[in-house]
Amino acid sequence: MKAFSFLDKNGKIQIGLRYREKDYNFSLAWEIYKNLKNSGRGPSLDFLQVMVEVDFLHAETFAEVFDALQEVRSMDDLQISGEIDFLPPIGRPQKIIGVGRNYRAHAKELGNVAPDEPIFFSKAISALLGHNGEIKLPAESRRVDFEGEVALVIGKRSHRISERMAEEHIAGYTLLNDVTARDLQKEDQKNGRPWFRSKSFDSFCPVGPYLIPKETLKDPENLELTVYLNGELKQQAKLSDMLFSFTQLVSYISRTCTLEPGDIIATGTPAGVGQLNPNDCVEVKVEEIGTLKNKVIR
Ligand code: MG
Repeated sequence: MKAFSFLDKNGKIQIGLRYREKDYNFSLAWEIYKNLKNSGRGPSLDFLQVMVEVDFLHAETFAEVFDALQEVRSMDDLQISGEIDFLPPIGRPQKIIGVGRNYRAHAKELGNVAPDEPIFFSKAISALLGHNGEIKLPAESRRVDFEGEVALVIGKRSHRISERMAEEHIAGYTLLNDVTARDLQKEDQKNGRPWFRSKSFDSFCPVGPYLIPKETLKDPENLELTVYLNGELKQQAKLSDMLFSFTQLVSYISRTCTLEPGDIIATGTPAGVGQLNPNDCVEVKVEEIGTLKNKVIR
């Protein structure tokens, strides 16, 4: 059960669902389901982000709709034909928050010590890019790095919540490449400036392709994250190596800023980050979540 956002042949944003190895137009399925069950009443689920906001992003919601439709009709006409034009699963989050140095080995490889408390920063919303989109290397930087990460999407408004409650506030999981202009980041760090610039060029935040409802992944922190550059393995780590867990991060960040449904938290990258060059192809992969693939252009 993997949800995604895509553009249909008419250029309209739709909700997609990868279910039993097939891709369906869930926006269409939902409208048919509403007519079948409630004479058309029920929320209009125009975007995947709306599903998150009305707290409908659950495996049960998808299963209920599909089971009900399958009883009365064929699902064949709801399948998406041809290549899918993926969009970021969440297109308009209020915030994209990145977490720095959340893996000991990565902190070390950049000459930093492991932090006692989470370090978090912001990325521009305008940096969002979908699966298969092109990462554009800006003229201002000579060194742009990939950083493969698992990202959380917030499902419930979160203000000063405890670690124990934090899991309930997560809607689901996706993949994110926290693309970074490393030279600018180092320069700004040296001069006591924030990281925002180096993290926020257009296309520096590929996300997707799928948003996995939380209940679909039983033990998310035991997953393995890998990153491939032009087919060569560059990063490989268990999420259990994170210094701060998903729930610790959500709880900690919510003490500073209220997290809203749809907000994205990139949970940090393991060791093995490296430079992107024109024509490279970078893939961030977690078997159970998917593969986020992007090409690089100048
Ligand atoms: Mg990062």
